[in-house]
Amino acid sequence: MLLTGEEPLLYKMKKIQNYINGKLISPNSNSYINNYDPSNGKIYSLIPNSNEKDVDIAVKAAKKAFISWSKSNKEVRMNFLIAMADEIEKQKLKFIKAESRDNGKPEWLAEKVDIPRSSANLKFFARAILHYGSEFHETNESVMNYTLKQPIGVAGCISPWNLPLYLFTWKIAPALATGNTVVAKPSELTPMTAYMLSKICIKIGLPKGVLNIVHGYGNIVGEAITKHDDVSIISFTGGTETGKKIAKNTSTLFKKTSLELGGKNPNIIFKDANINLALEYTIKASFLNQGQICLCGSRIFIQKKIYNKFKKLLIKKASALKVGDPKEKNNFLGAVVSKNHMEKILKKIKTAKKEGGKVLLGGTRKFLKGDLKNGYYINPTIIENLDNNSSINQEEIFGPVVTLMPFEDEKEVVKYANATKYGLSASIFTQDIDKAHRVSKKIDCGIIWINSWMIRDLRIPFGGMKQSGLGREGGFRSLDFFTETKNVCLKLN
Ligand code: NDP
Repeated sequence: MLLTGEEPLLYKMKKIQNYINGKLISPNSNSYINNYDPSNGKIYSLIPNSNEKDVDIAVKAAKKAFISWSKSNKEVRMNFLIAMADEIEKQKLKFIKAESRDNGKPEWLAEKVDIPRSSANLKFFARAILHYGSEFHETNESVMNYTLKQPIGVAGCISPWNLPLYLFTWKIAPALATGNTVVAKPSELTPMTAYMLSKICIKIGLPKGVLNIVHGYGNIVGEAITKHDDVSIISFTGGTETGKKIAKNTSTLFKKTSLELGGKNPNIIFKDANINLALEYTIKASFLNQGQICLCGSRIFIQKKIYNKFKKLLIKKASALKVGDPKEKNNFLGAVVSKNHMEKILKKIKTAKKEGGKVLLGGTRKFLKGDLKNGYYINPTIIENLDNNSSINQEEIFGPVVTLMPFEDEKEVVKYANATKYGLSASIFTQDIDKAHRVSKKIDCGIIWINSWMIRDLRIPFGGMKQSGLGREGGFRSLDFFTETKNVCLKLN
């Protein structure tokens, strides 16, 4: 909302617009939400405060566009997605700066991960659709079955703020490639790169209504998308609590739903691990993107024999990490996404102390000087002495905060690793390949890395068990999700 006293300045500010039916338009309410730059805590643009009416207009446009888009040639859809990707690459400097400014992440990270991965997502699914076949079953000499994979209709794609364009494109690309049309909502905390993408869609002449982007609050715009009768399929990435609300809405309406949710991922270091390798990946798994990646390894289990040694080395390495201006190449950590989120993380650290946790490193907000003095920075934080059942080890913090826990043996660490409601990912560090396989089989997670972390191959099944989600994305699975399977049985007489 506009803040009293700030209106004159805000009027001059860049207003993001919704992208509906091929046009950039203002929200029906004509009201806007402040968009903050996390690096300095200042408002720098305005986001449409859209509502159910905006969603309804977008869905109508998408429904109309579906008639021809769903029948379009695969090559046509591929070419549009590749054209989008090419434009992102051409404008990559602008996208890198925008993603960093909106989210607080270091520019080097947006350059290395977010922006290249966004164009890679579009290209990957653009090409995948050409290779997407279907099944054929010959029952006997006179009966055969073939299976159609048909686009479903209007897909609702809702994405979070931690990897804004990366996760936005991860959803819209397979939805569009398979011939669906889309109504998408980026997080209201990080809308800028999705807005820039809507300008690209206009530039490349994407047919109107094929992709619609409605900005605004999750509980208004997001909820309206999930409840709309003409949105038949929902792809959501975000927190587990939001996922539960969405599942409630979509289950009674029988919408096909994919949920990629939170995690409390174990990072297991056995005594026979290659210590340098384990350290290198543990630092990344703990603090990359300020710890705001669903795959971050926030519970670090270290075998007792090497606990003290590994702890010392980890503290030494983590204390050398620089926190500060996202524009500076040497800063490993930038700002966390919002003031609210920063306060939530700091509160969790307080709770950890109350629960008996010993803060070995960090645990505090970092105040920078000058223009960045009000930015949302948190020092990398390492805590020990907490039971695996403590709230800190059970609830997702989604910040640069990890805990260390010793374990005796394989059996014990598997029990600890599995003792949460989540089951997204795990990393295992050992040089004993048999043990690595044994433990991988026993851990209840959708994704396991052995002697590594977050190596991504876009073809693999991606998703979580338990309360970390429902369904798997990636490769042909994403294309399966966005299509309806229809079997046709033919009897020859
Ligand atoms: P949220 O669940 O708060 O929000 C995700 C998206 O859902 C946002 O666009 C949000 O809008 C929207 N939303 C909020 N409420 C509703 C609602 N009632 N109905 C429909 N949509 C709604 O998650 P965060 O943005 O805070 O993202 C962080 C979370 O995402 C973490 O838990 C993280 O683990 C998870 N995540 C999971 C991944 C995975 O692949 N498993 C990958 C990345 C993140 P708005 O922000 O505007 O309110």
